[in-house]
Amino acid sequence: MEMHGVTAVLLAIAISSAAAARWATICSTQPANKIRGCDSQGCGGYHDPRGGKRHEGVDVVCEDGSVVYAPFAGKINRQARPYGNGNAIDNGVRLSGSGFCIKMFYIKPVKYSGPIKKGEKIGVLLPMQRVYRGITSHVHIQNCDLTDPTPNL
Ligand code: ZN
Repeated sequence: MEMHGVTAVLLAIAISSAAAARWATICSTQPANKIRGCDSQGCGGYHDPRGGKRHEGVDVVCEDGSVVYAPFAGKINRQARPYGNGNAIDNGVRLSGSGFCIKMFYIKPVKYSGPIKKGEKIGVLLPMQRVYRGITSHVHIQNCDLTDPTPNL
């Protein structure tokens, strides 16, 4: 009976820590993941207004040219472009693994397929100031199922 109680508690801890799994720090020029607040171009939180729509991900503050790291271990599935218009920041990847699936926009990726470790360099932030002057430069991260990624940051 004693052992079953301990096992149950340990199992509960394991499950709750998995649910709240934290991602690695995403940007080399930030000590921790920080969500973009509001600036002249808009706000960076999940479901903040975007024209008539809502922001489908979160914007993690990052300076142009910074190294961007993989938030979790997995594999790069393919290229994922935010606009498809070929502008200076129209690049990114879809990454899945460790129970997650995300798209990361505005980075020049190191590759478009293959495995990647948590915290490994996945790319470099593209020159966002060239496209949106005065914006708080950032990596856009959205879950493939469009749920809120904020608890993982
Ligand atoms: Zn965004």
